[in-house]
Amino acid sequence: MIDFELPPGAKLARKMVHGLSEGTFRKLSRYYDSYEHEHEEVKELKAMAPMIRGGGGLGGGAKKEKPKDGAPKAERKGTGGASLVAVVAAEELAWGDAGLMLAVPGGGLGNAAINAVATPEQKERFGTRFAAMAITEPGFGSDSSAVATTAALDQKTNEWILNGEKIFVTSGKQCDVVVVWATLDKSKGRPAIKSFVVEKERPGIKVTKLEHKLGIRASDTASIVLEDCRIPYDNILGSAEIKPEEGFKGVMKTFDNTRPLVASMALGVSRAALDFTIETLEKDGIRVRYDAAPHQMTAVEKEIAECEANLEVARLLTWRAATMMDEGLRNSLEASMAKAKAGRAATLVTQKCVELLGPLGYSTRWLVEKWMRDCKINDIFEGTNQIQMLIIARNILGFGREQLK
Ligand SMILES: Cc1cc2nc3c(=O)[nH]c(=O)nc-3n(C[C@H](O)[C@H](O)[C@H](O)COP(=O)(O)OP(=O)(O)OC[C@H]3O[C@@H](n4cnc5c(N)ncnc54)[C@H](O)[C@@H]3O)c2cc1C
Repeated sequence: MIDFELPPGAKLARKMVHGLSEGTFRKLSRYYDSYEHEHEEVKELKAMAPMIRGGGGLGGGAKKEKPKDGAPKAERKGTGGASLVAVVAAEELAWGDAGLMLAVPGGGLGNAAINAVATPEQKERFGTRFAAMAITEPGFGSDSSAVATTAALDQKTNEWILNGEKIFVTSGKQCDVVVVWATLDKSKGRPAIKSFVVEKERPGIKVTKLEHKLGIRASDTASIVLEDCRIPYDNILGSAEIKPEEGFKGVMKTFDNTRPLVASMALGVSRAALDFTIETLEKDGIRVRYDAAPHQMTAVEKEIAECEANLEVARLLTWRAATMMDEGLRNSLEASMAKAKAGRAATLVTQKCVELLGPLGYSTRWLVEKWMRDCKINDIFEGTNQIQMLIIARNILGFGREQLK
């Protein structure tokens, strides 16, 4: 049975998070965009972090577990699963401010990864800590199989020793722990790549650089160096066994959780721009007549309707990917579809809003120009748009990595 309605619990979370986002994020938006890196932390976010985590947010999402008999539907009718609530809440947070959303302690991409694959014991230890996600290195971006950071087991102390450099780590400076992708044995290829939780207080982990960026400037983006950094054995996420038959599946599973969240982030920012544009045009007496026949609509009305349709398509794809996650179904294809559609749609919608509002759309008097800048990242991190297309094509055509590069 297809149900396009959100369950009451998810609606409630949406309302609560929207209020929070409107009341706090919006007021801080311009300040933290203008004064990138000139603050130690976004102090206003600390107090609200538990509330935001409770309502979902970027760190949300659930580990895939096979539902018990009859559980999923009943659960969805009441509250919605954790992943659905998380994407709904993430859209509202990003509607307030995407950079601030990424800076909420405990709401990092690493938290989503931990929630997706950690054991109950690891969730207990790391669940409330602010976790960044470090995959990218100076030698690669899209091709995650090229990970050169190493993790070697010290048999005597039963500790992992990590060495390598990670770049473009979102919240790398402000986070408490970093989920680091490293290889156990470079000669064994993809199956040897595992993820490890590295606490920032460990000797041997150091933030070396902060990026100045186009958008999401409230969120820091850092380079991190690991030099003989020792962590306990139990900080590995998933199994340490190298299973050739599993290939890359272990670590890639985290993307099934984070990509719908990034899609929601794109939706939130572009909806902010579209809501503002519609309101502003209405003040100028330009109302979208949804009931007008297509040949009677003005060019502006058509553009707005097209933007709204694009966002609605992306939203339904996102909710589907999250719902599948909640129901314990494999959702790699759907997560990539959601991210590809939302990232592209959001870039086009925000650009269109700047265009429709004329010179003031481009001016810093309003936030629309900022939303256009903030939006672009959704086309880049957690896999670029081209990479999502590649994954979609491989899944639909039944091709492997080697057959379709
Ligand atoms: C603000 C910001 C925050 C980030 N946060 C994080 C983070 O928290 N953690 C993290 O690990 N990384 C992060 N990244 C890195 C990001 O994930 C990478 O930039 C991204 O994966 C792309 O890698 P790349 O830049 O090396 O591009 P490349 O891989 O060099 O690609 C360059 C271009 O070629 C295209 N391309 C590459 N391969 C193919 C192919 N096979 N077919 C078609 N086109 C292809 C790409 O789509 C892209 O357009 C962040 C980046 C930015 C800018």
